[in-house]
Amino acid sequence: MGRLSAPATSPGAGAAPAAVPAEPAVPFVEIEAVRAKEFVPAAKEALTALVAEQGQRKLIQPVFNWAGRNSLFPLHWGLACCAIEFAAAFGARWDAERFGVVPRSSPRQCDLLIVNGTVTWKVAHKLVTLYEQMPEPKWVIAMGNCATGGGPFRTAYSVVPGVDKLVPVDVYIAGCPPRPEAMLDGILELEKLIRERKE
Ligand code: SF4
Repeated sequence: MGRLSAPATSPGAGAAPAAVPAEPAVPFVEIEAVRAKEFVPAAKEALTALVAEQGQRKLIQPVFNWAGRNSLFPLHWGLACCAIEFAAAFGARWDAERFGVVPRSSPRQCDLLIVNGTVTWKVAHKLVTLYEQMPEPKWVIAMGNCATGGGPFRTAYSVVPGVDKLVPVDVYIAGCPPRPEAMLDGILELEKLIRERKE
């Protein structure tokens, strides 16, 4: 499949340059008209052409950041009491999905690992495996004192004293347990980090 379109350029001599291209650099309408199984390669080709044209992903990185931060798919690693607060956040009262946060069941469909509960060394390798199965870019939230630093069980021989000993953590949420509002606040903090992401 060849180039789908080219931006309009070449204003006449003496004419002021157009502030907005006459047609979009990415032909979204044309891409949307193709069949579902052809959508991904067609979109990839159009975006690759846009990158080559505008260089260094400077222009499209904010678009990816915008899309990513408004459609976080968390993988729920609920191990103990904090998991109940996570579940409550998705009920009618707090309605976490209004922020585009939609839990998924497979790590391959997720970009956010929310660890809530007491992580033991016995399950540590499972957590790392699930994290590694998530596609890039991905983020981790440690929700509650247990996930953050072991909580009341920190000195127990069997407890991991903080999930950041296993995977990189982007946002920590304090509390034993943190309320659903705190979890939503953690999500909004993560969205700020994604907004500022350069790569
Ligand atoms: S931080 Fe407190 S509420 Fe959360 S899992 Fe640990 S003991 Fe339970």
